[in-house]
Amino acid sequence: MTMLCERCKREIYRNNKCNYCDRAVCDGCMKASQRASKLQRLIICRDCWSNMEKRTLYKNKREAVQGQARA
Ligand SMILES: [Zn+2]
Ligand SMILES: [Zn+2]
Repeated sequence: MTMLCERCKREIYRNNKCNYCDRAVCDGCMKASQRASKLQRLIICRDCWSNMEKRTLYKNKREAVQGQARA
């Protein structure tokens, strides 16, 4: 099954899910990713990157908290 980027609607072949808005995004919409721990990988999309609160969470290797840090 083909998946579409939930941000620009392009086809994606790899599941990159933004940890801050829960959307599947393509490589182009993915702004950055990092390994927060052995098991966890954090992905942030361009939309969330422009949100200071979310970007700060990302830089602190923190995941978005439910009900918080959401636009
Ligand atoms: Zn995209
Ligand atoms: Zn996002």
